[in-house]
Amino acid sequence: MPPRAKAFMPVGYYKSSSEAVQLNIEEFEVFRLLDYEGLTQVEAAKLMQVSRSGVARIYEKARYKLAKALTEAKKINIEGGSNLFDNDWYECERCNSKFNNPARESPRVCPLCNSAFIHMVNN
Ligand SMILES: [Zn+2]
Repeated sequence: MPPRAKAFMPVGYYKSSSEAVQLNIEEFEVFRLLDYEGLTQVEAAKLMQVSRSGVARIYEKARYKLAKALTEAKKINIEGGSNLFDNDWYECERCNSKFNNPARESPRVCPLCNSAFIHMVNN
């Protein structure tokens, strides 16, 4: 699943001119798998099809970025990333499910409810 929010904004002290922290999708996903789902680095590596040291590196970056954002009251943008979700995501306007297209063909209907009212979710 792609992240539910595209960005997080500090409340209270916040300078809109201050640079946002850019958290890419891989960093978000590693952080989520390890700290939210409670997976080990080995399990996360298997799931993401990257090496364990790769997971450790991404995790390190994600934690530093999140610590920086929380400490310095910076906006967090979740975006980009290439390895994990390198195909397009779509959203169903009827059931709100999000799905992608591993076959790289544009889907015509929602795989869950068969609605034709779907649109591409831009990253
Ligand atoms: Zn649907």
